[in-house]
Amino acid sequence: MQRLQSGRHFLQIPGPTNVPDRILRAIERPTIDHRGPEFKGLGLEVLEGIKEIFQTKQPVIIYPSSGTGAWEAALVNTLSPGDRVLMYDTGHFASTWHKLAGKLSLDAQLLHGSWREGAKPEEIEQALVEDKDHTIKSVCVVHNDTATGITSDIPAIRKAIDRAGHTALFFVDTISSLGSIDYRHDEWGVDVTVGGSQKGLMMPPGLSFNAISKKALVASGEAKLPRSYWDWEDMLNANKQGVFPFTPATNLLYGLQESILMLLEEGLDQVFSRHSRLAEATRAAVQAWGLELNALNKSEYSNSLTAVVLPQGHDADAFRKEVLECFNVSLGNGLGRLNGKVFRIGHLGDLNEPMLLGTLGAIEMGLELAEIPHRPEGVRAAMSNLIENNR
Ligand code: PLP
Repeated sequence: MQRLQSGRHFLQIPGPTNVPDRILRAIERPTIDHRGPEFKGLGLEVLEGIKEIFQTKQPVIIYPSSGTGAWEAALVNTLSPGDRVLMYDTGHFASTWHKLAGKLSLDAQLLHGSWREGAKPEEIEQALVEDKDHTIKSVCVVHNDTATGITSDIPAIRKAIDRAGHTALFFVDTISSLGSIDYRHDEWGVDVTVGGSQKGLMMPPGLSFNAISKKALVASGEAKLPRSYWDWEDMLNANKQGVFPFTPATNLLYGLQESILMLLEEGLDQVFSRHSRLAEATRAAVQAWGLELNALNKSEYSNSLTAVVLPQGHDADAFRKEVLECFNVSLGNGLGRLNGKVFRIGHLGDLNEPMLLGTLGAIEMGLELAEIPHRPEGVRAAMSNLIENNR
């Protein structure tokens, strides 16, 4: 029999994340006329404010869509049918972006990865050096692969592209790092950065972003892939006046206004260090339980989520079901080839120490109930780690 569950549901998947009350209250305002004078103020404020989150001075486009739409927008605005695109298989999301590129009639090449390590700059460099005629038009990398809990080194990949002396555009997916792991669109020389609202921005799903470099804008003038809804030109022209070429997601823009305010009030550096602290405590718990992290390299551990490998013979989905039914805590499932083998702990967005400890406590109890071999010392290890890092 399903138990009645009291108290707050803990949404500890790696996005969508908890939506804080301030943002919920901002969204529940009455919808206004998106062609009226009041809207322009909102439009101009969010279009300007979101640039700070991407750490860019260049335009950022806001779409009423999930992140997948912004992936598609990045490709159709800059490329032509048959163009070669180089991608790195860091995990489920990189491989999904690759499939999408194929459906758009791009010639997308996927460099093989183990799903336990980040994108390797030297392999990207090698592929670009071999492409003497510069037929590769874009390199696409997922900054933080949400399926594997691994963060790739974007500045190192930028340097690899430069060392190869290659002209390809550089596209980065920051859907599960924006607003939780340091990311700098301008300084890191990225041409299109793709983002989404439902993770570090603490918003519901429904908005996505393209931050655009000057080089990407020039490429969009020559690109031949068909585009209409995703067209940057129509958006950028309308955005100059603070409006959109079609009906915007007005209430989500109210939420975005509040989200930007909250992130800047805390300060991006503080936001990043809070995520780093909570992630480190999570890993301390996993190690104390004697379980295995999916990520192999310390320097690539994700600060927005942790993917935990269960011992062979134990089903991660059965374990997650136990934790949800007994303790009202949602954990992320294993995606693609990791299905049933790993569970994922989301520790991004509007989160603090007690919320994390509640989550880790539920996991520790779940491990015992599901009879998964472990040492019941994870919560204590996380607490010790948090005490040290808050001194
Ligand atoms: N890229 C990454 C890294 C993601 O985590 C996700 C979704 O979780 C996506 C792309 C796809 O975004 P959406 O589901 O919002 O379309």
